[in-house]
Amino acid sequence: MSSTKTPITVAYGDGIGPEIMEATLRILDAAGAQLEPEVIEIGEKVYKSGGSSGIEPSAWESLRRNKVFLKAPITTPQGGGFKSLNVTARTTLGLYANVRPCQAYHPYVETKHPNLDLVIIRENEEDLYTGIEHRQTDDVYQCLKLVSRPGCEKIIRYAFEYARAYKRHKVTCFTKDNIMKMTDGLFRKVFDEIAVEYPDIQNEHWIIDIGSALLADEPERFGVIVTLNLYGDIISDIAAQIAGSVGMGGSANVGDQCAMFEAIHGSAPDIAGRGIANPSGLINGAIMMLVHIGQGEVAAKVHNAWLCTIEDGIHTGDVYQEGVSQRRVGTAEFAEAVIERL
Ligand code: NAD
Repeated sequence: MSSTKTPITVAYGDGIGPEIMEATLRILDAAGAQLEPEVIEIGEKVYKSGGSSGIEPSAWESLRRNKVFLKAPITTPQGGGFKSLNVTARTTLGLYANVRPCQAYHPYVETKHPNLDLVIIRENEEDLYTGIEHRQTDDVYQCLKLVSRPGCEKIIRYAFEYARAYKRHKVTCFTKDNIMKMTDGLFRKVFDEIAVEYPDIQNEHWIIDIGSALLADEPERFGVIVTLNLYGDIISDIAAQIAGSVGMGGSANVGDQCAMFEAIHGSAPDIAGRGIANPSGLINGAIMMLVHIGQGEVAAKVHNAWLCTIEDGIHTGDVYQEGVSQRRVGTAEFAEAVIERL
């Protein structure tokens, strides 16, 4: 392992963000991760002090310099207010692939799907998330769905390459190409074209509605799922929740220059400040970051210690189950238990 420290940009975010980021950084430090964190302020605090985009220019400079971003969740107002900074960060930094692995930890974490083990690869820059939305009349609003051939090619090729690299046997595509024949139709068409280049990997397509139903009922039939931005966002929360908890899933947002690592869940304002949030999602995001920056040994060490903690039944409230779990802990205590197992 190199002793040179890798500079990374860190944002503590909103809601439960500071609690889970503190827990995660303590674990990384105790594991011997060679990191030089540079903390930036983003989200609610910046909005409230007048920064309408939720991020200062100096923070962009840090991100462009370091190219690796460990980000806690941030709060975005619903049905109005400022634009999502998460979406802005993904598009501004060209983070076209959102990789969301999801696994059951049976029998240690209660789930109806003990064999669930899949990865959702979500297109991250286009679709209905580009924010091109406007008012036509007081009663009619319009949102533009943007899908491009280069965008489809990049994400679909990424999914097949990912499947090959991680020895996954099948890539499944979800679209609604029976209704949105041009936009979703293009995604499906490019999927079929690229699938031919990967004869070693099975491929299939499901219309998103029945695909989601199958995912909720028989998730073990899927390995890698590639889909458009909005569908990917929704199905990854479903997959994480049926695996055990939305609090467990980590996520990588990958581009050609930069990468951002986070938990899949949001800022959970309903439990913020109580020290009870599960830091596992951000820990799993941080493990993906360590692999990305070439600190695979530390990543394995943290992953093993985290798994031992889960297997020892040391659980936060979201996954705690009487008769399955051993001890109910808060965020800091969970981090302590991981550190003891490093
Ligand atoms: P959420 O994911 O924050 O919370 C949904 C439910 O899951 C809540 O009951 C919450 O308590 C629980 N939960 C989430 N994470 C948990 C954890 N680590 N441990 C224990 N329980 C956990 O979703 P929401 O309430 O719809 O969104 C809240 C805010 O987060 C919104 O402003 C939304 O825009 C934002 N958000 C941010 C991101 C991001 O920064 N990447 C992602 C999704 C939502």
